[in-house]
Amino acid sequence: MEEFKRNLDIPYTEELTLYAPEGCEYCNNTGYRGRMGLHELLVGTDEMKLMIQTRARIDEIRTQAIKDGMTTLKQDGIEKIFAGNCDLLQVRKVTIK
Ligand SMILES: [Zn+2]
Repeated sequence: MEEFKRNLDIPYTEELTLYAPEGCEYCNNTGYRGRMGLHELLVGTDEMKLMIQTRARIDEIRTQAIKDGMTTLKQDGIEKIFAGNCDLLQVRKVTIK
């Protein structure tokens, strides 16, 4: 929750909109057109390089990466949902494990 607040910076206001697909003739009534990637970028800080070299546990690497400011796949997806670029269903399809 703290990481989401720190990284997302989306204020909860009356105007906050959760978009859902709505078809039209331009998108063949699917509500979708084209593709957009969700991205997660792990920055190779000195500490991160050391953790990789010493084969640290994946949950420790993940915690450090988030501490270093990594935006996770899910966070990127949530930003794109609120920007109206995709919807919750599409993001959940690629971020649920
Ligand atoms: Zn459309």
